[in-house]
Amino acid sequence: AAAPGTPLPTTLLGPNTGAALPPASQSLNDRVALLRGDITTLALDAIVNAANRSLLGGGGVDGAIHRGAGPRLYHECRELGGCATGSAKITHGYMLPCQRVIHAVGPVYDPYDPGESERLLTGCYTRSLELAADHGCRSVAFSAISTGIYGYPSWDAAPAALSAIRRFLEGPQGSKIDKVVIVTFDMKDVDAYNELIPLYFPPV
Ligand code: ADP
Repeated sequence: AAAPGTPLPTTLLGPNTGAALPPASQSLNDRVALLRGDITTLALDAIVNAANRSLLGGGGVDGAIHRGAGPRLYHECRELGGCATGSAKITHGYMLPCQRVIHAVGPVYDPYDPGESERLLTGCYTRSLELAADHGCRSVAFSAISTGIYGYPSWDAAPAALSAIRRFLEGPQGSKIDKVVIVTFDMKDVDAYNELIPLYFPPV
């Protein structure tokens, strides 16, 4: 991990953007954390589901969220008419300890078009944070969107996610969010985030 106040290496690139990231302000650094555990147990303002376009539930974390929230979540989702890939919609949390669930639809990873996959994955993170901010959700937990059944390599997904989160927190709406927690079961996600979070958000 970088020493306190160490600027980001100038060679650290945003994924596929070609743009070097300037050092993060220290006030950002304590706002992003990684947790290995079950996202459905978290009593935060919002949790972000890795949903599919139907928004009607599925496997992986989506199934766990629907089971935890109970049937009223399914009924609310049915009214939403699905969601485009790369975007997100917000519901209540019902029987879950969180207030809201943000259902983000990640891309199925396309190895023949990684740039488009990245654009869609980035869209999920940005749109989810916009929805959280618009609904007064100051603490947000993200699933590792697309890195399970949808096959996005963790080492490509993590920098896309962290770039989008950092851009949002540094942007005009950034002060509306206090805490972003990335939650996963998967050791390959944990390894990628453990290495990359200190680069995008150097420890204070
Ligand atoms: P996708 O279809 O977008 O790939 P998955 O649900 O298959 O979504 O996987 C996304 C990530 O969620 C994976 O890293 C998986 O290990 C993780 N995951 C599955 N269940 C949970 C849970 N209850 N809490 C947190 N993370 C979970």
